[in-house]
Amino acid sequence: MDEVSARNLIAAVRSRVKLSDVVSDFVELVRDGPLLRGVCPFCKNENLGDDHKFQFTVDEVPGTYICHACYEKGDVFRFIECFKKLEFFEAVIYLDSKY
Ligand SMILES: [Zn+2]
Repeated sequence: MDEVSARNLIAAVRSRVKLSDVVSDFVELVRDGPLLRGVCPFCKNENLGDDHKFQFTVDEVPGTYICHACYEKGDVFRFIECFKKLEFFEAVIYLDSKY
């Protein structure tokens, strides 16, 4: 794939794929005002008490996530890179094929 096609694909995936849809396929999320919350898939904070275990939040408007326990954060591409252990462009292809 040439550079222009790659850039167009990244832009298309970024505008089409919602972070909350992707994350909720792997993590049970509950609504908390403007945010969605769940147990962080990166630090497995389910061992924390109930008051602290929903430290992983998804902010739908900018399409970003952050865990307030391990500080892992990013966008939809970063989430799939980390969760599926893929390179950046492999994450783009994965998202394009599944969503
Ligand atoms: Zn975490």
